[in-house]
Amino acid sequence: MTTTPLQIGTRPRRAPDGAPATSGLCDPALADGPWAMDAVPGQAPPAPVYGPGSSNADVAPPSTPVQQRIPEEYRRAPVAELEERIAAAKAELGERLVVLGHYYQRDEVVQFADFVGDSYQLAQQATTTSADHVVFCGVHFMAETADLLTSPEQSVVLPNLAAGCSMADMADLDSVTACWEQLEAVYGTEPDAEGRVPVVPVTYMNSSAALKAFCGDHGGIVCTSSNAAAVLAWAFERGRRVLFFPDQHLGRNTGSAMGVPLEQMPLWDPRKPLGGNEAEALLDARVLLWRGWCSVHQRFTTAQVDAARAADPAVRVVVHPECPKEVVDAADEAGSTQHIERVVREAAPGTSFAIGTEINMVRRLAAQHPDLTIACLDPVICPCSTMYRIHPGYLAWVLEALVRGEVLNRVQVDDAVAASARVALQRMLEVRP
Ligand code: SF4
Repeated sequence: MTTTPLQIGTRPRRAPDGAPATSGLCDPALADGPWAMDAVPGQAPPAPVYGPGSSNADVAPPSTPVQQRIPEEYRRAPVAELEERIAAAKAELGERLVVLGHYYQRDEVVQFADFVGDSYQLAQQATTTSADHVVFCGVHFMAETADLLTSPEQSVVLPNLAAGCSMADMADLDSVTACWEQLEAVYGTEPDAEGRVPVVPVTYMNSSAALKAFCGDHGGIVCTSSNAAAVLAWAFERGRRVLFFPDQHLGRNTGSAMGVPLEQMPLWDPRKPLGGNEAEALLDARVLLWRGWCSVHQRFTTAQVDAARAADPAVRVVVHPECPKEVVDAADEAGSTQHIERVVREAAPGTSFAIGTEINMVRRLAAQHPDLTIACLDPVICPCSTMYRIHPGYLAWVLEALVRGEVLNRVQVDDAVAASARVALQRMLEVRP
C-alpha cells in the first residue's frame, strides 16, 4: 500500500497544554493517507466519516457522500508513477480539461492545478472556463459551486467524493428551515417603514447548494471570507438583521469589524428551541450566528499568539477570520486566504510571519518566499483532513477515466436547487468586495 506521510515543518513543537508534543501531527493516523480513512473495515459501502485529524471530533451526517474503493492499481502505484500518469492524462485531454486546486490542497496534487486559489477565486475561475471537464481538487461544496457556475454540458469532477467539509455539514436545509420558521414567528414577515425585511439569510460559501438555494429563495446571498463585509453591508441595506450560517466565527468577526456589538450577535444553536435564546433577546439582534465552526481554524488560540510574540517580538501575526474572535483581536491582522497570500507576497525581505490558517497553505508560502520567515501559528500540524483525502491516486483515476471518455465522480446539483442557488451566487458576484 502506498502512503504519503505528512511531513511539514512548523514552529518548535509543543502540545496544546504546553508539554512537548509526542507527534508533529494532531492525529498520527493522518500519516496513513486517505486509503485508511476511506476504508471502514467490515462495512461496504464505507460509512461517512471525516477520518483522523482536525475534524476528527465532528460528526459526518448520513447525507455525507462516501467514496467507493478505487481500483487497486491506483492504491498501490508509487506516487512518482501516479504523477507521470496524471501528467500524461492531462496532456492527452489538453484544453478539454481544467484542474482547479484550493490553497489548502496537498502539494502532490496542487502541482497539477491550472489555477490555485481560495473558494472565491476558484468560483470566479469556474465562470470563465470553457473546458469540457473541471476537475476540482478541493471539497464537495466547492465542486457543487463550480457545477452551478458552469454550463450543463461541462462536467465537474471531485476526485474523492468523501472530500467534504465538516463546517458545511453543520447546517442542513431542515435545520435552517426550522430556524427560519421560528424567526418568522418572532419577527413576522412584513418589511418595516423603510422597506427592510425582518431577516436576510446569508450563507458562507462553505455550505451545500441546498442552503445557497434557500438564500436565493428568501432574498439572501452567499459570501466568502474575501467579501463578507461587503455582503453584510448589502444585507443590511435590505434587512433589519442577518441570519448568518454556518460559520459563527466569520459572522462574528465580520459583524464586529462593522461595529455590531457582541450582545446583538446571539448564537443560534439548531438543537435548541429558539436556538437557545429568549424571544425578547432576539428582538434586539442584528446578526444571528449559526453554531458552526471550522475545526482547522478553531484550533488557533491567543496562547499561540503570545508564544509567537515571545519568540520573536517583531513577528507579524496574520490569521483567517474563521479563527475565534479573541485570536483575530490578538493578531496584527485577519483576512481571507487570498488576503494572507497577498500580505506575504508584498512583505519586505526579512519579515517574520506567524500565520493562522491551514498548514498546506502556510508550508507553500514558506517555500515560495525563502527571504521571509514563515511559520504556522499552531505548533501541532492539523491539515484540513477532508481536503487531504484527494490523493494523487484519486486524481490519476478520474483523469485516466476522462481520457477513456468516462466521467467518474461527477458532482451535479439538481435543476430544482440549482436555479435558486445561482440567484444567491449571482448576487454575491455582483457585490464588490
Ligand atoms: S479548512 Fe475548514 S472550512 Fe475549509 S474545507 Fe477544511 S474543514 Fe471546511
